[in-house]
Amino acid sequence: MNQRQHSAIAENLQQVRERIASSAALCERSPEEITLLAVSKTKPASAIEEAITAGQLAFGENYVQEGVEKVAAFSNHQPPLVWHFIGPLQSNKSRLVAENFDWCHTLDRLKIAQRLNEQRPKDKAPLQVLIQVNISDEQSKSGISLAEVPQLAADIAAMPHLMLRGLMAIPAAETDYDSQLAVFRQMTEAFNSLKLSYPQIDTLSMGMTDDMPAAIAAGSTMVRIGTAIFGARDYSA
Ligand SMILES: *Cc1c(COP(=O)(O)O)cnc(C)c1O
Repeated sequence: MNQRQHSAIAENLQQVRERIASSAALCERSPEEITLLAVSKTKPASAIEEAITAGQLAFGENYVQEGVEKVAAFSNHQPPLVWHFIGPLQSNKSRLVAENFDWCHTLDRLKIAQRLNEQRPKDKAPLQVLIQVNISDEQSKSGISLAEVPQLAADIAAMPHLMLRGLMAIPAAETDYDSQLAVFRQMTEAFNSLKLSYPQIDTLSMGMTDDMPAAIAAGSTMVRIGTAIFGARDYSA
């Protein structure tokens, strides 16, 4: 690990924090309302270490096995890291998520919710969960429609080992700000109405490297940023 790489991730993180602050200021929000999740999928533990040194403690992973290995590698860290599972979840992998992660952003089926609830170790805090909404991406099989949210929310709210914290979305890629904003605003509307029924709901997970300012303008409380922190991902290996 050379010094230049070290400072690159620290500098990137600083720039992302500044962009969060300036996006928040534009819509008169406080930057403290927005949690930065560092998406470390495909990146080595050394990159995570650099981010930790720069003050980052919340990380997002997409692949169960890779994520579990990283959770284990940093399990003795103080203060503890907070691990978010943000990838598609198959039921045969639910136990690993229930046992290792603090959050799951991609809940979109009753069956998986039931499994996570049963498999969550009883000596741990409830698994913090978000319902994934398929807000605009017709190609994607992940996420439920807005119309299906109230029923799944009610089912999850009755499960003692899950804590429903809000909603998550990965909209279809749009390059212009106004189109991004219009989609994110539909999520905010659904989030606000869900909050009326469930007072513990406080998390709207939306915004990635290419659409973060629009997500913040629409009301995101958690942005999931990979590329802008860790650089482009290499899937060729
Ligand atoms: C990869 C990924 C991200 C991060 O995307 P970037 O464009 O690299 O910031 C965020 N959320 C999810 C669900 C992802 O899979």
